[in-house]
Amino acid sequence: MTITSFHPPRRTLMGPGPSDVSDRVLQAMARPTVGHLDPAFIGMMDEVKTLLQYAFQTKNELTFAVSAPGSAGMECCFANLVECGDKVIVCQNGVFGGRMKENVERCGGTAVMVEDEWGTTVDPHKLEDALKAHPDAVLVAFVHAETSTGAQSDAKTLVALAHQYDCLTIVDAVTSLTGTPLMVDEWNIDAIYSGSQKCLSAPPGLSPVSFNQRAAEKIRNRQSKVQSWFLDLNLVMGYWGGEGKRAYHHTAPVNCLYGLHESLVIVQEEGLENSWARHQRNHLALRAGLEQMGISFLVAEQDRLPQLNTIYIPEGADDAEVRTRLLNEFDLEIGAGLGALGGKVWRIGLMGHASNQKNIDYCLNSLKAVL
Ligand SMILES: *Cc1c(COP(=O)(O)O)cnc(C)c1O
Repeated sequence: MTITSFHPPRRTLMGPGPSDVSDRVLQAMARPTVGHLDPAFIGMMDEVKTLLQYAFQTKNELTFAVSAPGSAGMECCFANLVECGDKVIVCQNGVFGGRMKENVERCGGTAVMVEDEWGTTVDPHKLEDALKAHPDAVLVAFVHAETSTGAQSDAKTLVALAHQYDCLTIVDAVTSLTGTPLMVDEWNIDAIYSGSQKCLSAPPGLSPVSFNQRAAEKIRNRQSKVQSWFLDLNLVMGYWGGEGKRAYHHTAPVNCLYGLHESLVIVQEEGLENSWARHQRNHLALRAGLEQMGISFLVAEQDRLPQLNTIYIPEGADDAEVRTRLLNEFDLEIGAGLGALGGKVWRIGLMGHASNQKNIDYCLNSLKAVL
């Protein structure tokens, strides 16, 4: 048997990520590979850092992309900030809060769970009750944009509460970054992580992260070594940090970073405010079309993520069959429900490059044809 080159089909990606990657980003990734310590490459890494500082709205020096997907950015935050015996309050209102709990426990910490119903936001009152009940807690972690449900929590309020009780904060912004307002410095977020394949519309495989001074200090003053060699920020920063001189830590995914760089240049060209406004405008257009079809949303309007629309599967429609037909007949990918929402909802992403009127019309027409 002779295996030949792989040519993927051209899909329209309107699920929970990855989102459509523009030809511009794909072409950037096809440029020549250079050495990861090549001065030309290091200059580009410095630009990625500057562009990420803009996207996160932060001046944090410790801002870079972890060489692995969003889950590694999550693990990087927890592995560096949680020490054995630390008590961490984890707010959970969907799938990804559950992963945070796993991370805390694997770092030897104790997770105190604050649970909210899936499809609703993290309740600040419940967080405050937990902070009062656990004065020895040192960290609060929550998901800004729960991709499993499409609900957006009030990050600014939750972070301010955590600080009132002397806790540092870890915020999951995998789906929120550039899709919805996010102000790392203004909101005083201590540690944050995202992913390349959601609203940035770069291919999966990189996780932008940012840490403020307080978080960096906690990491420097750890009693024990970070248990992950690869994610230990004290070591990684020898490669990403500082000016000019770089020490070898690992071989950066060179061409993948070209793609992230290009996607961030596109964000800069559009402007963050314009990007947020476009995501909101397109959410409203999609909503209008879906409501005309009699389809309703899981999340209350004021809590909805414009970039991730979770809708109830219409009565009589077969979940798997509809999604399979959309993929096979229309090359269109939408997301299935996760966990308890499996079989009950679909998740329609309007993320980054995929958030446009053409995709909205295509999705609505394809859904109509299949239903
Ligand atoms: C997608 C996602 C992740 C995980 O990112 P991967 O790149 O799949 O590892 C984490 N948190 C949220 C909210 C996400 O949407």
